Amino acid sequence: MEILIGEKNEKLRGKSLPVKKITQDIWLLAESMSSLMKEKNGAGLSAPQIGMPLRLIVFLFKNKPMALINPEISQSSKETESIEEGCLSLPGTWAMIDRPSKITVKAKTLTGKKIKKNLSGISARIVQHEIDHLDGILFIDRISKKTKK
Ligand code: ZN
Repeated sequence: MEILIGEKNEKLRGKSLPVKKITQDIWLLAESMSSLMKEKNGAGLSAPQIGMPLRLIVFLFKNKPMALINPEISQSSKETESIEEGCLSLPGTWAMIDRPSKITVKAKTLTGKKIKKNLSGISARIVQHEIDHLDGILFIDRISKKTKK
């Protein structure tokens, strides 16, 4: 399993499909993604980044990997903050990105339990970045024109 690299990679630019059934394959996939994330010192990883067009992400939550299936942001704060982001698919690229500082995310866990989480700080940031991947959006797409100059 390898992480796909490059802003022009088509597989990083497509829309991923919802996970219909949480099978053993999904557990194994989530587990491999968590290991890969740790190995690469990442804070989050999405399934499309390893070439699987599925709505599944893993991220570090309180220092432990957590998987979210079919995650959706149901609320975001009006208040935004600018934080420096990088991405395992864009090695060596870093930029300040402005995003809502707090979000509510709805998802399913690996056991199929529906959850709703209020996130702020770095967790809110990572989850927004990873959910973007599920829609083929990379953080560099969100660099403001002002910053690009
Ligand atoms: Zn990324």
